[in-house]
This record gives sequence, C-alpha cells and structure tokens, in this order.
Amino acid sequence: MNNEPVVIIGAGWAGLAAAVRLTQHGYKVTIFESAKHAGGRARSVSFGNNTVDNGQHLLIGAYTECLDLMKTVGIDIESNLKRLPLLLTVIDKPATNKKPEQLILKAPTLPAPLHLLYALVRAKGLKFKDRIAAIRFGLYLKKNNYQLKQDISVAELFKATRQTDILIYQLWEPLVLSTMNTPISEASANVFMRVFKDAFTNKRKDSELLIPTVGLSQLFPDAAINYIKEHGGQVHLKSRVESIEIIENQVTTVTTKIDEQKNSINTSNVIIATAPQNLKKLINNYVALKNINHNIGQFNYEPIVTVYLHYPKGTQLSQPMIGLSSTTSQWVFDRGIFCQQDGLFSIVISASGDHMLMDDDTLTQKVHEEIAGLFENKPALMNSFVVREKRATFTCKVNINDIRPANKTDVDGLYLAGDYTNTHYPATLEGAVRSGIAASKLITKLI
Ligand SMILES: Cc1cc2nc3c(=O)[nH]c(=O)nc-3n(C[C@H](O)[C@H](O)[C@H](O)COP(=O)(O)OP(=O)(O)OC[C@H]3O[C@@H](n4cnc5c(N)ncnc54)[C@H](O)[C@@H]3O)c2cc1C
Repeated sequence: MNNEPVVIIGAGWAGLAAAVRLTQHGYKVTIFESAKHAGGRARSVSFGNNTVDNGQHLLIGAYTECLDLMKTVGIDIESNLKRLPLLLTVIDKPATNKKPEQLILKAPTLPAPLHLLYALVRAKGLKFKDRIAAIRFGLYLKKNNYQLKQDISVAELFKATRQTDILIYQLWEPLVLSTMNTPISEASANVFMRVFKDAFTNKRKDSELLIPTVGLSQLFPDAAINYIKEHGGQVHLKSRVESIEIIENQVTTVTTKIDEQKNSINTSNVIIATAPQNLKKLINNYVALKNINHNIGQFNYEPIVTVYLHYPKGTQLSQPMIGLSSTTSQWVFDRGIFCQQDGLFSIVISASGDHMLMDDDTLTQKVHEEIAGLFENKPALMNSFVVREKRATFTCKVNINDIRPANKTDVDGLYLAGDYTNTHYPATLEGAVRSGIAASKLITKLI
C-alpha cells in the first residue's frame, strides 16, 4: 500500500460504498463530488419545513450489502427503516364511481418460497385461473433457473407463461415498474427473473419491504461521510473532476475544478463512480476505453417523478404503501405512518409516460384527484411539491447486461462503480452499493 490516496469520483451510494470499504481496509481515500451534497440520486431535499427525498425510495430484505454497509457506518437498521412483511395491495381506478377492484397479496410466516406460493393461492382479488397462471409463472422461472439463454422482454415472458390481465396489470406490471423503472414491453426478462429469485426464493426475510423512517441523506450518505473523515479520508463537495490522465495505460492524475480553481492530484488508483452519462465525458479521449464508451452510448434513460401531497393532519391510509393501477399514480406512501410526517403522502410515478408532458400544476391536480379517491371524504390539498428526476435510472432493456461495463477496465488503476455496471441488478441502491464494494475489492485484492 503506498501513501497516495485512492481517488473516488462521485459521492453517490456507489462511490461512498467503495470509500467506506477501502477506509475499513486502511486505505486513504479522497472523494470529489461535483454537487454541493452527497447522496447523488438518493438524497434528502427540503419541502417547506419537511425533509423529504429527491424520490421516495423502498428497500427490500434482499439488499444485504446495503444493510451491512449501513451498519458499518453506525446506522441502526431497525430504527431507521420500517420493516414490513410482504403485503401488496393494488387498487384499480380508485377515483371512479364503480367499486374499485383490489388485489391483496399477503405472505404468511412460512419459509421461502412457500410464503409466496401461499400468498398467491390466498390472494384476494384473484380468480382460480389467475392463481394457476401465477403458479405456472413461478414454475417456469424455476425450470429455467431464472435465466433465459436468449433474453426477451418481460411482456413476452408474460405471454409465454399465459399470464392473465389481472396478474399483469395489478401485480406484475407494478412490480416491474417499481423495481426496474422500465415499461414491461422493453424490460429485460432476465433482469426481472434475477430480482424475482433474490426477493422471493431464498429467505422469507428477503421479500420484506424496508421503508426509510428518516431522510435518505441521514440513512447512509451523511454517516458514511463522517465515517470516512473520522478515519482520515477527505470528502470535497462542489468539486467536479474535469479530467483524468492516463500515461502508458496507467492512470496517473485527476484534475478537479474547485471554486473555479483547477487542481491536479497524482494517484495510481481511481474509481469513477458517476452516473453513466457523466462517465462519457471523462473517458472520451482514451482508445483503451473505447468499448466502454461505445456501450454507454447505447444506454437509454427513464424518469421517476415523485409528487408530494400535504393533507390535513390525521389523513391516513390503511397501510404505509398502496399500489394503484389504471391511473397516473403508481404507488402512494403515507409518510405519516413511517416517517412521522402526519398527512404527507409521496406518490411515485416510474418510467416515461403522458405525465412527463404535463406541467407540475396539472400533474398535481390529477394525482390529487386519484389519491383523494382513496378516502370516503375527499381531503383538502394544503400544499404540494413535485420532484422530477429525468434520468433517474438507465432503461433496463432486453440484453442490457451484455453492454453493462465491468468494474475493472483495461487501464491499470482505473475502476468503475455505479448502478449501471454489470451487477445483474436493475438500477437500485443495492446495485450501486455492490458495484462500489466490487470496485474496492479490486484495489484491496480481496476477491
Ligand atoms: C427518483 C428515484 C427513485 C428511486 N427509487 C429507488 C428505490 O425505491 N429503490 C432503489 O433501490 N433504488 C431506487 N432508485 C435508484 C437509486 O437511487 C440509484 O440506483 C442509486 O442512487 C445510484 O447510485 P450511484 O452512486 O450509482 O449513482 P449517482 O447517485 O448518480 O451518483 C453519482 C455521483 O457522481 C457525481 N458526479 C458526476 N459527475 C461528476 C464529476 N465529473 N466529478 C465529481 N462528481 C461527479 C454526481 O453528482 C453524483 O452525486 C431511485 C432513483 C431515483 C432517481
């Protein structure tokens, strides 16, 4: 180990994960983050007197690396995340006069995958043919060992396994949109099958839903930064990396811009932990990295919109989160139940759609009507806030894993981390964290 720091570009969850694990192994790290805050696409923002997130996030029990990392930096998992057994309620068209259709899937305390099987067999809102189709789906996935030789879209997978309309629109599609942020007609069946396997087939705990009870910055980035600094590392915010220099196939220098001042740092180990669209600018000039550059050029991106609606105190859902189908709103979270923000609801709309053409006022009004339809007496809307993340995640399209780069590059000392690297996960916190840890292991040689 030499005295040069390992330079990490980007203080999102991937960059911070790499920094924490390297710090743990005695390495000195220096992080450069272009924004004025850490956390990247998973961070806290202010709405009036409330701390909310740049987008409502949900974790699951299968996010083992994420949870381990939080423990390393001193986060108490049980008090910072509300753990719920698998319970999915999806309501169709709540705002219409017709009694809305409800699908309720509740897993009992049986070992996996029996808990899922039982939940499907006993689910409210499914007919006999739906239950048989759902079981057929599970068996098909198992028979194929959760991986097809030739990737297809999730919609084609549903067709091949003869899924019914209710299953598609009230169960599978909401699950695909929330986990992959990609429409079912484009989403990769292989990635979905991997998510399905990890969430439902190992341990019952894996499918538990974990909702943050604190802001996302408090959940990990803030504690990670304290941990890194306490162990001698440096974190520079508002510090964009402008370029990296590679000489004779070895990374040598990183040049930053801090307060309009350019500054160069010598280092032989760099982890680029930016989003893919920012990576391109840093590696464009290097022939040795042209494959990565080419593949990143094939990526597409999907938005996620979160609409926060503030209702009078005491306005409460029957559960912390409810799915909605045939509406613009997809999932509604009652932050009064898990975040002590009485009357505050976050409504998540994944992937592109007509809502991206609406202005904030029109979208808020539409979403408010849908959410108010869940209550017998329509609550009055007091305040609202819309957060649009236009490039929230890469599109998790068919064959995406073939173009996702590895953590190791062909340049000595240059590594990649980020949710888009080839973790086999969709763009998630767990994917980001795993990629950071994998990049750190390439430096510590602990693989
Ligand atoms: C609205 C929304 C909702 C989501 N919901 C969920 C969810 O419910 N569950 C889940 O698991 N995941 C969810 N995700 C996905 C998850 O947030 C991301 O997968 C994860 O945060 C990506 O982390 P990352 O570190 O790979 O990238 P990023 O968070 O993009 O971090 C990259 C960092 O690099 C910095 N940077 C870029 N260029 C430079 C440069 N030149 N110099 C220095 N710094 C630079 C950026 O400012 C940024 O901070 C959601 C994402 C969004 C946007």
